[in-house]
Amino acid sequence: MTKILHRQIHQQYPVAAGGDGPYVIDREGQRYLDASGGAAVSCLGHSHARVIEAIKGQLDKLAYAHTSFFTSEPSEELAEHLTSRAPGELNHVYFVSGGSEANETALKLARQYFVEAGQPRRSNFIARRQSYHGNTLGALSVGGNPGRRAVYDPILMKNVTHIGPCYAYRGQRNDEDEAAYGRRMADELEEAILATGPETVAAFICEPVVGATLGAVPAVRGYLQRVREICDRYGVLLILDEVMCGMGRTGTLFACEQDGVVPDLLTCAKGLGAGYQPIGAVLLSRRIFDTIAGGSGAFQHGFTYIGHATACAASLAVQRTIEEDGLLANVKSQGEALQQALKARFGNNPHVGDIRGRGLFRGIELVADRGTKEPFDPTLKLNARIKKEAMARGLMCYPGGGTVDGWRGDHILLAPPYILEEAHREEIVEKLDAALSAALEQVTA
Ligand code: PLP
Repeated sequence: MTKILHRQIHQQYPVAAGGDGPYVIDREGQRYLDASGGAAVSCLGHSHARVIEAIKGQLDKLAYAHTSFFTSEPSEELAEHLTSRAPGELNHVYFVSGGSEANETALKLARQYFVEAGQPRRSNFIARRQSYHGNTLGALSVGGNPGRRAVYDPILMKNVTHIGPCYAYRGQRNDEDEAAYGRRMADELEEAILATGPETVAAFICEPVVGATLGAVPAVRGYLQRVREICDRYGVLLILDEVMCGMGRTGTLFACEQDGVVPDLLTCAKGLGAGYQPIGAVLLSRRIFDTIAGGSGAFQHGFTYIGHATACAASLAVQRTIEEDGLLANVKSQGEALQQALKARFGNNPHVGDIRGRGLFRGIELVADRGTKEPFDPTLKLNARIKKEAMARGLMCYPGGGTVDGWRGDHILLAPPYILEEAHREEIVEKLDAALSAALEQVTA
């Protein structure tokens, strides 16, 4: 019996013991095709020789040195690599150990920026319903997932307002086209800013492509641009959470590039270190950096492991591999092919409502009734059944369920590694089909 406290306390897990490209291998030798990259993490697959070499090389030199005393070569090189490729003037970076820490840091940077800029009344945040930005208290406070918030509600920040997500499959009305829907949802931000008091709002945070909570849902074209305009109109900072959708997952290094939008703060993690080391980062604009640097000169924040030399060395090797091996092109072409294959296989399934996403970030939404889009009864736990059936067939997929505005749905999130080949893609579709059929049989019998 395990002594580890897992989220699902009574669940039994196989013991992961090895890795081979897109496969994880358990202690009994069973191979699992990692079609979800864990949780959109393992973008280079497992046991990547170049990354392992970089980690070992750094350990031979120096594992870690505290940032109160030193900087390090890998952290400086990684900062240069990221900021020189980031859009706009996102030209400084703060390294942390994961996505929650990245979002905590972004919220605090936004707040301190306004204090230093002589606008101390700006202390409110706006976020979206059914969002997830991490499990630490600040990140959970901006998160809009009622299930995750419920227990902690009394100890969460009260200065957060939630607006609706941009989720065309559920939200777009019959009397409006995609552009009109995008405008309507972005305008909810303006209404929230006006209702809160524009001079008191610090930042708006959202994911450009929503991962775990909705299942690879990109905002409709034009939405983020209008959000950017609204933020600018009222002097509100825009934080884009690219913890899951960033670092190449959607086919461009930063997801927001495809929307033609540059945030003031951009958070990333997961694919940044590809699971080889825990690492996250916040990219910040020149304006925010200059204001704090020219003001108090100190960001009132910090963690023991910021800029961890070994984590940065691993991340640098991951990022150079993505670039030098031309993997973003593979993400685009394999992503398109995966979308086509999923549509061909599941497009006529009466319980598949929507198949969407960008690059190698794909979501399949499951419904009890395709015509009415009615979800399955949540007590049936369809998503957990799919995960179990998939694992039994040697496939990892990331099932999720959303609760938003009165409905609760099931979806499957696919985020396979960027090294994906045609044979892996076919294996994903075959095994997913079998797992889905088995799970649907249980809930529709
Ligand atoms: N933000 C998003 C969009 C995420 O998907 C996640 C994790 O799933 C987080 C933040 C939190 O990241 P971490 O679990 O590394 O703290």
